[in-house]
Amino acid sequence: MTYALAIHGGAGVLRKSRMTPKHEAAYHAGLARALEAGHAILRDGGAALDAVTAAVCVLEDEALFNAGRGAVFTADGRHEMDAAVMDGTNRRAGAVAGLFGPRNPVRAARAVMERTEHVLLIGENALRVASEAGLPFEDDAYFFTEDRWTALQETLAMRARGEDNDDPARKHGTVGAVARDVRGHLAAATSTGGMTAKAPGRVGDTPLIGAGTFADDATCAVSGTGHGEIFTRWTAASEIAARMRHLGESVAQAAGHVVMQDLAPNDGSGGVIAIDAQGRIATPFNCEGMYRGMVSHDMAPSTLIYR
Ligand code: ASP
Repeated sequence: MTYALAIHGGAGVLRKSRMTPKHEAAYHAGLARALEAGHAILRDGGAALDAVTAAVCVLEDEALFNAGRGAVFTADGRHEMDAAVMDGTNRRAGAVAGLFGPRNPVRAARAVMERTEHVLLIGENALRVASEAGLPFEDDAYFFTEDRWTALQETLAMRARGEDNDDPARKHGTVGAVARDVRGHLAAATSTGGMTAKAPGRVGDTPLIGAGTFADDATCAVSGTGHGEIFTRWTAASEIAARMRHLGESVAQAAGHVVMQDLAPNDGSGGVIAIDAQGRIATPFNCEGMYRGMVSHDMAPSTLIYR
């Protein structure tokens, strides 16, 4: 019964100097709940795809993380969410972008994978697929969080003054999960509100297969978080798999190389969680912290924020 699961709650962590014990405890508790949701499925012999979907749903429901309920606001004060899932068994994938309505965008992504012939849907038809799948929808009030609204106002004010928003917690975040199940299958899921004050219509790396999300039983499953434009241009997630396949690197070497050598020097702050076919996990990041957690058949659950 070999299985393993890793999750992340984004690289947009609160600066250590600003983190209070109360906040810290809340982040750890949210991560632990998500880990348990996925762990329960893997422990019972369930599929990696179900485990990553369940873990991401818990993180989407938790307002602390930038996905689902806690999604950040666009420049015009709306929510546009991106999400993707990928099944390493056969490289099936589903994704949605710029979505507002479904409580769990990751389930909408999964509905695209399971109910259509397509990989990525946007707009009215993405909402229709989610609604035909019977997914719950929520309104503006559900997705409104004071912290995200304040972050938007601060970011817009800084922009007007010509200043850079260099606080990762104000800027972005994302949630994701990767798993290896008892049958040796891999899966990845990622969900995000994107970046605070992003231009309406902007799509990040999260729903782009090979950029922010990837899974293939032959190599690894990856979920990324960070500066989406750079993850996209460096095709971060599939590059990790390519390094394993072509160079024979381990998941730790490949993920470490992409995060530290490709992304970091090119303004690509952030990190990834990655898992290989043996269930070995790598969680490299090139910034101050990344909310993350892991568990396996022979490792007790653990959650971490900083190095
Ligand atoms: N990668 C996400 C995006 O660019 C944001 C993040 O992970 O912090 O939409």
